[in-house]
Amino acid sequence: MISNELHEAINAQINAELWSAYLYLSMAMDAEKKGHRGVANWYKVQFQEEQDHARIFMNYLNSVDAKVELKAIDAVPTEWPSVLDMFKETLAHEKKVTALINNLAHIAHKDRDFASVNRLVWFINEQVEEEDTARAMIDAVEAVEGNKYGMYMLDKELQTRTYTQTTELTNA
Ligand code: MG
Repeated sequence: MISNELHEAINAQINAELWSAYLYLSMAMDAEKKGHRGVANWYKVQFQEEQDHARIFMNYLNSVDAKVELKAIDAVPTEWPSVLDMFKETLAHEKKVTALINNLAHIAHKDRDFASVNRLVWFINEQVEEEDTARAMIDAVEAVEGNKYGMYMLDKELQTRTYTQTTELTNA
């Protein structure tokens, strides 16, 4: 049994995860349009991972007999001045998501709802990884800034990123 406050906050989080998915899909489309196929691939993987995050929360609400309410997803930006801007916005966005996850954990703690606290631990760890990955991408793009061949090679490398469904879902 979860509190109404946490139930509502998790429904809002499902929307936030789906908005993240939509944001990264939009970045993928902008990158692809500009010929950065590897960057587009990287964001398409990100798009799938965000949908996984939403599904983990949906599964959790179902498992505690709380209704999932899918709300409208707000529009996302459609264009970025550069690949570097894209990754910088990604890091800034993930920091906001970290704050949202921390708030969920705070509510669960306050409620002494340790099952929810336990469910949220995966997301707390995931956010450390998300921020670190975005920072690594900023470092990589900054390292080749102004070097067309360097950007070409980096883009080629990003084409190799593949999506693997999280074990949180495959084992569910
Ligand atoms: Mg996420």
